[in-house]
Amino acid sequence: MTSTEELAKLRAQEAERIAIMLARTKGERREKLKGGEGTVAWVTENLCIGCDQCLIVCDDDAIELYHKEMASPLLNVPSNSKARILRDACTGCRLCVLACPTDAIDMIDR
Ligand code: SF4
Ligand code: SF4
Repeated sequence: MTSTEELAKLRAQEAERIAIMLARTKGERREKLKGGEGTVAWVTENLCIGCDQCLIVCDDDAIELYHKEMASPLLNVPSNSKARILRDACTGCRLCVLACPTDAIDMIDR
């Protein structure tokens, strides 16, 4: 029977394998994304769930959250946030695109 130590080791190996695979996928995706000075990030509002991930990764303070009223008054949630890009501050680095879990951010030409 597999011991607890062996199980922990297998789990660590699997976690490492997944981390390497995700890093590779992200690297490939980043290469395909356009970016740089001539581009700026853009958030598609209805795809944004206000999760904050893009704000965390943006080194240039180029993203802010704003409050959005719920489309239906029947849904009573205290906060419904959306992200918005501050165009002047955005350097086109693409980090937010890679961090967004809902693919709500695209890079567009300035
Ligand atoms: S592209 Fe870079 S600088 Fe622009 S909003 Fe995204 S993370 Fe910030
Ligand atoms: S990471 Fe994506 S879903 Fe989350 S707040 Fe930013 S744009 Fe919205």
